[in-house]
Amino acid sequence: MLFRLFAMPLVLFIVGQGSAWFLLGWASKAEKTVLLDLAIATRLVGILLVMMSLIIGGGWLLSRLYKLHLWRAGRLKDGCFYCNGLLSHHDDDEGFYSKCLMCNTRQR
Ligand SMILES: [Zn+2]
Repeated sequence: MLFRLFAMPLVLFIVGQGSAWFLLGWASKAEKTVLLDLAIATRLVGILLVMMSLIIGGGWLLSRLYKLHLWRAGRLKDGCFYCNGLLSHHDDDEGFYSKCLMCNTRQR
């Protein structure tokens, strides 16, 4: 169940970092040939991707860890109806609802 809680932040972090380092590696190879402008642009995109995945993925991961800490300490009163897991609360056109971060069920 903890896998589901951390899956999306980890996927974002790993995919972001992996593609960024791939781009940076390609850019350093392209610099040695005639594709200098493309290499510079690719390097900038790669650096931006490294920073974004660090900030967004890392921040998301830290917020989930903090929520898990609060939940384990018993400071979050409500839990999932089915598994007693950690809930995230949302509001859409149909109204207020909660979604379990551990078993992915939607509850009113
Ligand atoms: Zn649940």
